[in-house]
Amino acid sequence: MGAVQVRDGFVELYGTAPEGVWSAPGRVNLIGEHTDYNDGFVMPFALPHTAIAAVSRRTDGVLRLHSADIEGDAGGVVELRLDDLAPEADHNWTAYPAGVVWALREAGHAVTGADVHLSSTVPSGAGLSSSAALEVVVALALNDLFELGLQRWQLARLCQRAENVYVGAPTGIMDQTASACCEEGHALFLDTRDLSQKQIPFDLAAEGMRLLVVDTRVKHAHSDGEYGKRRAGCERGAALLGVDALRDVPYTELDAALERLGDDEEAVRLVRHIVTEDERVEKVVALLEAGETRAIGPVLIAGHASLRDDFRISCPELDLVVDTALASGALGARMTGGGFGGSAIVLAEAADVDTITKAVEEAFASSGYAAPRVFEAVPSAGARRLS
Ligand code: ADP
Ligand code: MG
Repeated sequence: MGAVQVRDGFVELYGTAPEGVWSAPGRVNLIGEHTDYNDGFVMPFALPHTAIAAVSRRTDGVLRLHSADIEGDAGGVVELRLDDLAPEADHNWTAYPAGVVWALREAGHAVTGADVHLSSTVPSGAGLSSSAALEVVVALALNDLFELGLQRWQLARLCQRAENVYVGAPTGIMDQTASACCEEGHALFLDTRDLSQKQIPFDLAAEGMRLLVVDTRVKHAHSDGEYGKRRAGCERGAALLGVDALRDVPYTELDAALERLGDDEEAVRLVRHIVTEDERVEKVVALLEAGETRAIGPVLIAGHASLRDDFRISCPELDLVVDTALASGALGARMTGGGFGGSAIVLAEAADVDTITKAVEEAFASSGYAAPRVFEAVPSAGARRLS
C-alpha cells in the first residue's frame, strides 16, 4: 500500500484528512550479528519495504490506532486513553505504536493524543524489523507534529524503550537506529556503545552486483528463549573476563581471553563469535571504503560459520540457503537477524541472480520446505515525511 492509499484510508476511517504522512523502512543487517547487546558494531541498511502512517494530533488524551493489515479480532480502530497506557498490558500489534507514545510521555514530551492509520510492506516476523518500522514511523510523525525537536538517534532510543519495556521484547538498538537513520545507497556503520555512526557507500548495482534477501518463512518456536540465553551467556562471558561488555575484548587479545575461559566451552564459543564478529564488521567497512566490494563475500561466509558453529543460532533452512547459494556461485551468504529462522542474505554477481534463486527454490522444494520468499534488497532511505 502506498502513501496515497494510506492517506485515503485515514480519511475514510476518521472523516478528515491527516495532518501528514510518514514512512519508515525495515532493515537487513549486512554484518554484525548479536553484537548490539555487547556494545559492539553493526552494519544494517534500509530496505525499500516501509511502514507508512497517516497521522493527526488530538488534544483530548485519546490515541486511536488502525492498521490496514490487521484483520479479525485485533482489527478495527483501537481507542486508548493515554493515561491508561501501561507496560506489558497489551499483547496486540497496538503495543508497538502505543509503546512509542508511552515512551515519549514518560520522557516528559507533551504528546496529547493522535489518530493513526498505517500499513506496512515490511514482511512481519521475518527478521526484517517490521516492529521497528512501526515504532519509528509513529515516533517521527509525533516528533514532527508536536515539534518535539528530538534527533533521529533519540527517537531510536525511545522506540527501543517502547519495545523493551512496553512491548516486553528484549532487543538491542540496531533495528530502530537503522530505520531512523539509514540513507539511500549506504549501509550504516553503527557503534552501539555511543551510537556514533558513519554512512558507508554501498551501491551494489553500480558495480554489477545484487544482494538478495531470502525469507525462509520459518520461525522456530524456541527462538525467543534462545535469544535470552545468548544474551545472558554473553553477559556471563564478559563478567568472567572482567570487562563491561564483550566489545571491550580486543581482537588481538582474543586468544589470551579464550585461554582464561579454559574449558568453559559455552563461554568460549559465545566470546569467540562476538569478538570475531566485531572484527568482521570493521573489515567490511574497510573493504567497502577501499572499493573492494567483492572481497566482503568471504567475510559474510565466515560470519555465517561463526553464527552456526559458535553462536549456534542457525537452523537447517538458513544453512540450506547459504550452502545452496554458495554452491551456485554466490560471492557470499549468511543468515541475518536473530536466528532460528527468518532471513538470509546472498551477495551475487547480477548475472548469477536467477540461477541462484532457482537453485534455492529447488533445494527448498526437494527438502519438503515451504517456498521461501526471495527479493532484491536495494539500500534505501531511512524514515521520512512523505507529505
Ligand atoms: P520483526 O520485527 O522481525 O518483523 P517482530 O516479532 O519484532 O518481528 O514484530 C512483528 C510484529 O509487529 C507483528 O506480530 C505485529 O504485532 C507487528 N506488526 C508488523 N507489521 C504490522 C502491520 N503492518 N500492522 C500491524 N502490526 C504489525
Ligand atoms: Mg522486531
